[in-house]
Amino acid sequence: MSADAQPKTVIDDVVCAFCGCVCDDLSVTVEADQITGVKRACALGKAWLLGHSTETDRPVALVDGQPAGLEEAVEVAANLLAEARYPLIYGLSSTYCEAQRQAVALADVLQATIDCCTSVCHGPSGMAMQSVGEPTCSLGEVKNRADLLIYWGSNPAESHPRHFTRYSSIPKGLFRPNGRKDRTVVLVDVRPTPSARAADIFLQIRPGKDFEVIWALRALVQGKAIDDRAVADTGLTLEQIQNLAERMKSCEYGIILVGQGLTQSHGKHMNLTAVFLLVRDLYAHTKFAVMPMRGHGNVTGIDAVLAWQTGYPFGVNFSRGYPRFNPGEFTAVDLLSRGETDAALIVASDPIAVFPRRAIERLKEIPLIAIDTHESETTKVAKVVFTTGTTGIHAEGTLYRMDGIPLRTRQVLPSAYPNDEEVLGQLVARVTELVDN
Ligand code: SF4
Repeated sequence: MSADAQPKTVIDDVVCAFCGCVCDDLSVTVEADQITGVKRACALGKAWLLGHSTETDRPVALVDGQPAGLEEAVEVAANLLAEARYPLIYGLSSTYCEAQRQAVALADVLQATIDCCTSVCHGPSGMAMQSVGEPTCSLGEVKNRADLLIYWGSNPAESHPRHFTRYSSIPKGLFRPNGRKDRTVVLVDVRPTPSARAADIFLQIRPGKDFEVIWALRALVQGKAIDDRAVADTGLTLEQIQNLAERMKSCEYGIILVGQGLTQSHGKHMNLTAVFLLVRDLYAHTKFAVMPMRGHGNVTGIDAVLAWQTGYPFGVNFSRGYPRFNPGEFTAVDLLSRGETDAALIVASDPIAVFPRRAIERLKEIPLIAIDTHESETTKVAKVVFTTGTTGIHAEGTLYRMDGIPLRTRQVLPSAYPNDEEVLGQLVARVTELVDN
């Protein structure tokens, strides 16, 4: 749906692409090609939507800092990528699946490495998923069935503000007619966050001791006896862990919602493997599930697109003509820090702002191409920059919510810029010509 010349348009069922909740019930008012009102979004989503307009103050492309046409920029970027021996495509968590597909096609034709933001957030969840499988469910099941919610290493009150109210603890569900009163909420974290105030039980765990606590829970759920020594130095008492194990076994439908506090702490993918196995153990007693709290709007989408096309969710290398997966070898930070990448295409991401120093230095040394909706630390140093419309505002496409449910975004504002899919599609076509010749 496009917002055209009508003086005032109210667009319902707008999808917010800002965080992994991908709320699809927003109502947006558009006047004179400006968003002037937003209903039902949280503060983050509202600020994101109201921060966009139809302004065209940036050129459609820049080459060496000078304005360029789209065709000229595609030609320069395609040649840089085709000439590289070990190119990298990175980012993609804030664009839509149809564009992500083009990025995978580009990596294939270039025999490049393609990696996404998952490798620096929930990569350990993806590795655990690859090794033992992910016993998960939909947010609809959580809303309608869950009576025990365990947030582990996540702070949804600040990172996913509508998670409590729309999907998990507060809404009334088919089998939870009293909403919050029918549920117990547990928060496990290394410090009290604003989310702790929304929990019935807050368990403050010592940093880096998640695996020990999860393993103790596995033993208790399996009926094995453990003593205080098994949980020494975890920050929790044996009684607290026994109490949690009993709650898990006796609930009707439980869910563990894991955040980066678990994926990025000591143990990393082993923490997640332990959680997935714990959930499997709980099947002997009740129904349980686990779900990663995914951050960016479509980071779940790029994992899905990569997995359905290559078999792997991130860090995929095509240099031998077929996909290979090896985190640590084919993940962006590692490739860049070792100085192996000799050209990079960054899509809808700003690694120069967040990557470790050595990886940033390498990005600044090599030919860098950036596709983004706005100026960023990465676009400031890129040799070629494409400006594109924002997914969910200027461009429509498919997003995956954190539970893997695909949702179609709407276009709420017109845009003078091409979308990510168009730019990537043109790069695929031109690189294919160059590689074939
Ligand atoms: S919770 Fe996330 S998806 Fe929902 S409105 Fe807020 S920022 Fe947007």
